[in-house]
Amino acid sequence: MTMNRAQLIRAGVTAAFLSLTWFAYTQTQAPKLTINKVKEDLYEIEGDGGNVGVLVTSEGVILIDDKFEQDHDAIIAQVKSVTAQPIKYILSTHYHGDHSGGNAKFLPTAEIISTSMARARIVAQKADGTAKTEPGRIAFNPEMSVFLGGKEVRARFMGRGHTDGDAIIYFPQLKTIHTGDLMAGASPLIDYPGGGSIVEWTRTLDEAMKLDFDTVIPGHGPVTTKAGLKTYRDNVEKLRNSVSAMVKAGKSQGEIATFLQAEYKWAPNSLNIQWSLPGFMTELK
Ligand SMILES: [Zn+2]
Repeated sequence: MTMNRAQLIRAGVTAAFLSLTWFAYTQTQAPKLTINKVKEDLYEIEGDGGNVGVLVTSEGVILIDDKFEQDHDAIIAQVKSVTAQPIKYILSTHYHGDHSGGNAKFLPTAEIISTSMARARIVAQKADGTAKTEPGRIAFNPEMSVFLGGKEVRARFMGRGHTDGDAIIYFPQLKTIHTGDLMAGASPLIDYPGGGSIVEWTRTLDEAMKLDFDTVIPGHGPVTTKAGLKTYRDNVEKLRNSVSAMVKAGKSQGEIATFLQAEYKWAPNSLNIQWSLPGFMTELK
């Protein structure tokens, strides 16, 4: 069958539309990352997934977290834009796929280090078929340091919060910390299925506040100060007190969901509603 002119135009328009749609699709799929300088030899990569910390030393690069697997090439490109040094270590703040999803692709060439609790979560997910990443070869609890090129990066488990295995990463010479998702977004996401706790969360941040630092790379969102972290910590306490009062007054889970959707803009099908809300009903009784 041969196409007449109208059919040819329609086919052409359809092809053009499909290629435009494909272009838009691939553009939204290809992660757009940006790298920002935080301190001398310390950068952070934002966009798609959690913030990646980048410490450059004369003996190699130490990353904090590695976003999703799809971000692997873009992370490497961003690191190459500031140094020719290879990525040698990745300190992982927690097991979530938007922070440790790149592990599989980095494992052949870098050591990935996490708390034993975070590692155990990934191992358990591999066993039940839900894992979106691979566990690292090195695990610790409660603290470890990497010394490279005359610089130290310290990782410490300071207590439960977002999960049961969050590491706070400390760059002592640069007076900077990376909080993982212990600071992320406008309000806390408590992964109760992953061992999180809103009761412990503020205590954990109080421990972190004892460190000597002035700059904070949060798990998501812009770089901030120690005062910014204190404000976030106080907001976690305020949310907890509001919800705790409602639970103790016998309010239903539905009533508390309505409150959180109105006051904290928690979306109805969000992970906050799926993970945090049912946990509140038992932890804040
Ligand atoms: Zn997370």
